[in-house]
Amino acid sequence: MTTDHVLDRRNFYINGAWVAPSEPNDVEVIDPSTEQPCAVISFGAAADTNAAVAAAAEAFPVWSATDPGERIALLEKLLEVYMARAGEMAEAISKEMGAPIALSQTAQVGAGAAHIKNTIRELQKFEFDRPLGDHAPGDRILYEPVGVCALITPWNWPMNQVTLKVAPALGVGCTMVLKPSEVAPLSSALFAEMIDEAGFPAGVFNLVNGDGAGVGTQLSGHPDVDMVSFTGSTRAGVAITKNAADSVKRVALELGGKGANIVFADADEKAVTRGVRQCFMNSGQSCNAPTRMLVERPIYDDALATAKQVAEQTAVDIAANEGRHIGPVVSQAQFDKIQRLIEQGESEGATLLAGGGGRAEGFDAGYFVRPTVFADVKPDMTIAKEEIFGPVLSIIPFDTEEEAIAIANDTAYGLTNYVQTTDVDRARRVARRLRSGMVEMNGQPRGAGSPFGGYGQSGNGREGGVWGIEEFLEVKAVSGWA
Ligand code: NAD
Repeated sequence: MTTDHVLDRRNFYINGAWVAPSEPNDVEVIDPSTEQPCAVISFGAAADTNAAVAAAAEAFPVWSATDPGERIALLEKLLEVYMARAGEMAEAISKEMGAPIALSQTAQVGAGAAHIKNTIRELQKFEFDRPLGDHAPGDRILYEPVGVCALITPWNWPMNQVTLKVAPALGVGCTMVLKPSEVAPLSSALFAEMIDEAGFPAGVFNLVNGDGAGVGTQLSGHPDVDMVSFTGSTRAGVAITKNAADSVKRVALELGGKGANIVFADADEKAVTRGVRQCFMNSGQSCNAPTRMLVERPIYDDALATAKQVAEQTAVDIAANEGRHIGPVVSQAQFDKIQRLIEQGESEGATLLAGGGGRAEGFDAGYFVRPTVFADVKPDMTIAKEEIFGPVLSIIPFDTEEEAIAIANDTAYGLTNYVQTTDVDRARRVARRLRSGMVEMNGQPRGAGSPFGGYGQSGNGREGGVWGIEEFLEVKAVSGWA
């Protein structure tokens, strides 16, 4: 049953049309600010997954042979439509996963626009057909689309993740089936409308909703899917890799993180404030969040005072309200997991500086977590090891550069680490020794087209820029060309 307030998003986008699921399987989408249903979707059955894969497979020969200029022109049109409907997109994201509307309008929607734009720029420069080198005049290297791609995405930065996959896959000539997070499917449904409006040929892009056990698993094991590009938890990444092995698919993984933020005593005066805010941004639901703050002993006490103050000044409010606050976390399951980890932090002996367990003050519904800071965290405590994915910061003291590097690297993950110091030589030295796909120093964000991805259990893929394009390409070596 649906009411007037509940959006009906039951249909899938397959072969250029919105089609009803092969069998009804309604699932409610819950607004995390209110805990009330805000939409209804369907979880697909194998017949739906198969129909979407078949449409993508059928569209591949023609689409893969199009001129890159034609594909770029369609991506430019998509960007135009995306910008024209940016307001709708911001509302969809804010509703489905609880990002405050201001964050949704700026960073959440903006990330999607930036990725489409950057992909277009890289595609304009990309040589799909090039000589091997002067030493081998008869050799040619051809870059060709890998084929039918399954794109499986999480809920935390929905359009960021979707565009990082869809734009390069479209741009190089792949066809695809997107399975967005079942927790936050509304932005992707809107994105499918945008693809349609932009005029991509039928079958090139398809969307089926479902969960990991259903559509996700059907896609990763499907014999006609050539590649899975996945962003999400390490647990699901492992399951996908195993399921994809029998058909020897390419599997690109963007997984979790437990970023260290090393704050040396000579760091700029805003470093601690910046680090706490960055950890709490998007209610702590970012794979690259700096969730372990490593602070050099001489400034440790001052850093604790600052972190406590910043946490206590961090407002929590419903997503629809304007202003600079953090919203709820995405779901009851995430709320419960975060509560369990906060309890564990206390029981393992960390000092609770701010926040703590229970729902944030002033709410009797909604998944609102209190902005929480732990001090005196030991590197072997659960809160220093596990990805919490909530507004929870763990602060760890250190005495030497060597010790800081060792603590930072003592994790199964390796996504983004952070360094704060005014000593340029030390900054560069430490950056080289951190085992992570990204290092951000002194608050400077990565530039457009910089590769995003991790070491170790943070995954094996690189998205964005030329790296994100190459991920969807096969490399063909041809000799005897001349
Ligand atoms: P999740 O792994 O539970 O789900 C992600 C997606 O995978 C969803 O679409 C889900 O339905 C699907 N899925 C789950 N199990 C599956 C299976 N066995 N087979 C196929 N598909 C399956 O993750 P989440 O809770 O949606 O997102 C949070 C996680 O994503 C965090 O660990 C976070 O660090 C990670 N993340 C990583 C990056 C990155 O680029 N490295 C970016 C954002 C989020």
